[in-house]
Amino acid sequence: MTIAHNSKEEENGKKSSLNFIESMIEHDLKNKLHGDKVLTRFPPEPNGYLHIGHAKAISLSFGLAKKYNGNCNLRFDDTNPVTEEEEYVQSIKEDIKWLGYSWANEFYTSDYFDQLYEWAVKLVKKGKAYVDDHSAEEIAATKGTPTRPGEESPFRTRSVEENLNLLEGMKNGAFNDGDKVLRAKIDMASPNMHMRDPVMYRIKKATHHRTGDKWCIYPMYDFAHGQSDYVEGITHSLCTLEFEVHRPLYDWFLDQILDDKDGYRPRQTEFARLNLNYTIMSKRKLLMLVQEGHVVGWDDPRMPTISGMRRRGYTPAAIRNFTEKVGIAKRNNIIDVALLEHSVREDLNKISRRAFAVLNPLKVILTNFPEDTEEEMSAVNNPEDENAGKRPIMISRELYIEQDDFMEDPPRKFFRLGPGRVVRLKYGFIIKCNDYVRDDATGEIKELHCEYYPESRSGSDTSGIKVKGTIHWLSAKHAVPAEIRMYDRLFNDEDPDGHKEKDFREFINAESLKIINDGFVEESLKKARPFDHFQFERKGYFNADPDTTTEKPVFNLTVTLRDSWARISKK
Ligand code: ATP
Ligand code: MG
Repeated sequence: MTIAHNSKEEENGKKSSLNFIESMIEHDLKNKLHGDKVLTRFPPEPNGYLHIGHAKAISLSFGLAKKYNGNCNLRFDDTNPVTEEEEYVQSIKEDIKWLGYSWANEFYTSDYFDQLYEWAVKLVKKGKAYVDDHSAEEIAATKGTPTRPGEESPFRTRSVEENLNLLEGMKNGAFNDGDKVLRAKIDMASPNMHMRDPVMYRIKKATHHRTGDKWCIYPMYDFAHGQSDYVEGITHSLCTLEFEVHRPLYDWFLDQILDDKDGYRPRQTEFARLNLNYTIMSKRKLLMLVQEGHVVGWDDPRMPTISGMRRRGYTPAAIRNFTEKVGIAKRNNIIDVALLEHSVREDLNKISRRAFAVLNPLKVILTNFPEDTEEEMSAVNNPEDENAGKRPIMISRELYIEQDDFMEDPPRKFFRLGPGRVVRLKYGFIIKCNDYVRDDATGEIKELHCEYYPESRSGSDTSGIKVKGTIHWLSAKHAVPAEIRMYDRLFNDEDPDGHKEKDFREFINAESLKIINDGFVEESLKKARPFDHFQFERKGYFNADPDTTTEKPVFNLTVTLRDSWARISKK
């Protein structure tokens, strides 16, 4: 697999015409294969929260339906009661809506359990399915290998009548989990392993989140998916490449259960799944991170889940633009997570209100600023958006600036503060550093003594003083203490899941969360509502966390200002 540094648009120099799925749909429409109808579906299994890979599948299936005036169904693929939960159903619906899509119908594979069972009986009657007493281990052991045929089960020759009785017994709870399965009778020597008498039903005496205890046998994915597509009238069933080898089975089941040989059939088409470097995308492994407490929950801002990204401050538009840029492919590759971050910056730059925040404060006394007075300055809310207006920020005798905006012995090209140097306070005045005070105990610099030039007021500067640098600042008495959560990548390895001898958890970045408790934000941010976006000037994009309160504002680092993607793609 290769890391794709170029997005689809960049590769082609312009927005490319049609991708292979669009070409297929247009061909089908032209030939009236399904009349004018385009109906797709997104079929999540409700066994975890959606992640950025699902966003790719969602934008594809919903996006195509929209482009061709069609519809997209949301179908919960709920065939495994042991791992599935209502909580996941709710989160999936919320995330799809948040991404900006709406489904035509909400369906559940469990809606079709009666119909699927009837079809199973039909296959048994046709001699195309049989009850096997073998255990899962025995079935696996007799499956053969891609180069060696499997062995036929001794139960394969059971009579139709016996099979019908046993299947009914399975359904009625006469047997225990693992005692029996229903298998399709296809070909144990098929070069496609999925065609070697695949399991159609297994016994699971578990309560289902929707059907309760009505069933104790549950259909396998392969026996449910194509038929569900058929029942709903899906025209284009899109899934990821690992299902390509299942396609003959998808078609085989439909051919066996449907009598109209030339009638309507849904059709499966595969595309490459989204892989991102530095990222894990298996729900099972994401669940491990949650259960073992490596993160605070599915919506931890470091998680690649939609809910994590929402909490981190990513926007639906940024995620949609990203999936669009990635395009669709027929071969697996790995996308650079920097492209996702680039899309996030691109959108946040347009929409986020600028604000001042000082993360590592250093006190500055403006020695010639009158005590007990303050002046109102005017700050631009968003230079990218004229309508965003301005806001007042107060200046007074005591300020905070960032520690690293001062150096005791700065090199020539350091355009910030140092002894005897001048700098502009953004939207404020020019100041000059005359002196600094050291803490006796720690030896650290604890305070700068500066003078300000009253005639250098931003916007009406008549001072004639030339400065090379501008820094952000806060008035100490107006600054609001805040908790600032600085996030970094959750894994410090490009391919945390790609090491044979090492578990992905060994690559968890111990520095992925640093909490700053002694930082300050400007007064206006007391009013920040959860999920509001800001650019903290010179620091990065941040958003208010759901934990934020007026008493104690809490912000998350969404993404830094530095854009490594822009650098890579210019090379
Ligand atoms: P996981 O392996 O993360 O558990 P899954 O494929 O089992 O994912 P489902 O809920 O079955 O998860 O997926 C719903 C749909 O989303 C499927 O059609 C699947 O192909 C698609 N999908 C899942 N992961 C990705 C991905 N990384 N890129 C694109 N599509 C994906
Ligand atoms: Mg799945």
